[in-house]
Amino acid sequence: MPSAYDLTRDEWAQLLPNEPRFRVDQIWQALWREDREIAEITTLPKTLRASLAEQITSPLTVVNDVSSDRGTTRKWVFALAGGATIETVLMSYEDRVTVCVSTQAGCAMACSFCATGQAGFNRQLTVGEVLAQVFTAARSAAPRRLSNVVFMGMGEPLANYPVTIEVVRRLHEWRGLSARHLTVSTVGVAPAIERLADEGLPLTLAVSLHAANDETRNELVPLNRRYNLQRLAAACAYWMETTSRRLSFEWALIDGVNDTDRAMDELAAYARPLFAHVNLIPLNPTPGYLVRGSTPDRVATFREGLEDRGVNVTVRRTRGRSIDAACGQLAAVSNPKRRRLPVTD
Ligand code: SAH
Repeated sequence: MPSAYDLTRDEWAQLLPNEPRFRVDQIWQALWREDREIAEITTLPKTLRASLAEQITSPLTVVNDVSSDRGTTRKWVFALAGGATIETVLMSYEDRVTVCVSTQAGCAMACSFCATGQAGFNRQLTVGEVLAQVFTAARSAAPRRLSNVVFMGMGEPLANYPVTIEVVRRLHEWRGLSARHLTVSTVGVAPAIERLADEGLPLTLAVSLHAANDETRNELVPLNRRYNLQRLAAACAYWMETTSRRLSFEWALIDGVNDTDRAMDELAAYARPLFAHVNLIPLNPTPGYLVRGSTPDRVATFREGLEDRGVNVTVRRTRGRSIDAACGQLAAVSNPKRRRLPVTD
């Protein structure tokens, strides 16, 4: 059974063969512009709402719903059809409201320091399932208007390419979100970055780099063995030339692993020719990776060192750590008790 955000305008019309055409417009407007659920579209006759309820499924079931940062960060754990679980995070800032969506249940990329990677891959999400996350968040954000969507939740968006690009198109064209406010984050699937560049949408691209030498990156991000740094740089250069959009590199600072002076030199040398912006993320704790994040002092020194080397850099403010909602912590664990790091005696 389809869900509300799976359907195109024509598919709605087919679902309502005996209704006047303006019914489709009402539904469309309510869903895509007013963030309403079918049951809330009170301009529709009750009988019609009841019949739609039998033909349209709601794809997400809330399993857990927690907030932190004084209510400005909210995380949902949703169960999908078939039982897989995913997580979605809503973050309100002074100047924007951002939702971080999952594109896969689990992830096959196996990055060592990421909780989703540690848990493995379950299944691909559908267009309706990704969009339902966006609109759940949009309803929660009201009366503020959801402004940004980042594809930085569970999964590798470019390993679910057709769904990711369709969601992007629908948000851009049907919801009217500026493509600049849509950020796709990838671990570095080089051919898919090039394909995305050719789509002709002024998206924001973030590449999870974390190491700028192949030996370290092979360890942190196993996909590097398939698309190494040189291949990735070629894809990034193609992105820049084709879209004229700046790209950013994500770099989770790990104590003694990628926060050394040598790492700083390597990153600067890699980022500069690509004019990439660097986002430093202090490493967030995950159960399966017992290396620590860099100290705040080291984070500051690393940032200054990059600036001295001519690189644009920001340190990402961490949100939602206390509810396991921060970068790399999404494992869809519905148990409200905090997971604990294994204790060695
Ligand atoms: N698979 C895509 C989308 C997920 S984005 C990608 O990797 O880009 C999630 C971001 O959080 C990525 O930049 C990822 O590298 C980063 N991350 C993963 N584990 C982390 C951790 N423990 N601490 C901080 N950032 C982490």
